[in-house]
Amino acid sequence: MNIRTLFDKKTVFSFEIFPPKKTSPVEVIYNTLDELSDLTPDFISVTFSAGGSSNNSHALEIASRIKDMGITPMLHLPCINYTKEEITATLEEVKKRGIENLLALRGDINPDIPPKNDFRYASDLVEFIKQNGEFDIAGACYPEIHPDADSMIEDIRNLRKKVDAGASHLISQLFFDNESFYAFREKAMLAGIEVPIEAGIMPVVNKKQIERMVTTCGASLPQKFVRIMTKYEHNPEALRDAGIAYAISQIIDLLASGVDGIHLYTMNNPYVARKISEAVSGIIKHDKA
Ligand code: FAD
Repeated sequence: MNIRTLFDKKTVFSFEIFPPKKTSPVEVIYNTLDELSDLTPDFISVTFSAGGSSNNSHALEIASRIKDMGITPMLHLPCINYTKEEITATLEEVKKRGIENLLALRGDINPDIPPKNDFRYASDLVEFIKQNGEFDIAGACYPEIHPDADSMIEDIRNLRKKVDAGASHLISQLFFDNESFYAFREKAMLAGIEVPIEAGIMPVVNKKQIERMVTTCGASLPQKFVRIMTKYEHNPEALRDAGIAYAISQIIDLLASGVDGIHLYTMNNPYVARKISEAVSGIIKHDKA
């Protein structure tokens, strides 16, 4: 199933998962996959380490398992620390497994890992994949600017290059303020970016996530969000329920504003994914009916 074609028929609802650590057997995620596939998302994407490491064979196995379960998989593929030969080998493996959908990424620059220099930007990878197979290729986008970019204008111009190279739809970085997504979507349209854009939603359901949000994520935190997190940070159950409720209210507002799709960062937590799916799937079903 080519994911791009889905957007013509419906508002897409997808999940993201990450592979278990290299030291854990891949099977530890199978129960999670069973529970997530019961929720019948349009596709499940699987992250892939940019570091040239470790659990990437798990990522391929998990994508195959998703396919065997009758759900469309999307494999993330960062390029900055890989050579053309390494990417070609991965693409061959992906083809062999019948995986048709890729999220082409640059990957974060890690000061401890010198880049391989075969690919500088995700758009280079998009072009390379186009020349080496029949894949549907998605790209990432940043409603609040990619941290390496000097300005939103520069970042959107670069995004346009990725789309022109062949990215057929985009998945956004997580955000908590829908207004930033709407402003970004409008600017992207003005720049002639007409491909569907899925909104990336991360339910914040535990204290560790709050700390990570504050120190690393760079997403702006609306007062409403900060109030909820401050009030419930020491009450795990209330925090979980409040985080789920916040994500649901974000999604409903996005649906009402005609979003092309919702990509849920599940953090491998099927309970949270189920609560959110149950709350929004009826609305999504009728969205383009
Ligand atoms: P690019 O599109 O290459 O952009 C990176 C920077 O370069 C931007 O500032 C952009 O403005 C600039 N730029 C782009 N093209 C040009 C050009 N032609 N000329 C000049 N400047 C340019 N990382 C992982 O390692 N594994 C994952 O599985 C993973 N999954 C992700 C999923 C999503 C939905 C998102 C949003 C991110 C994910 N990431 C993942 C993180 C991602 O790799 C980083 O955010 C990385 O820093 C940028 O990747 P990109 O593909 O957006 O890069």
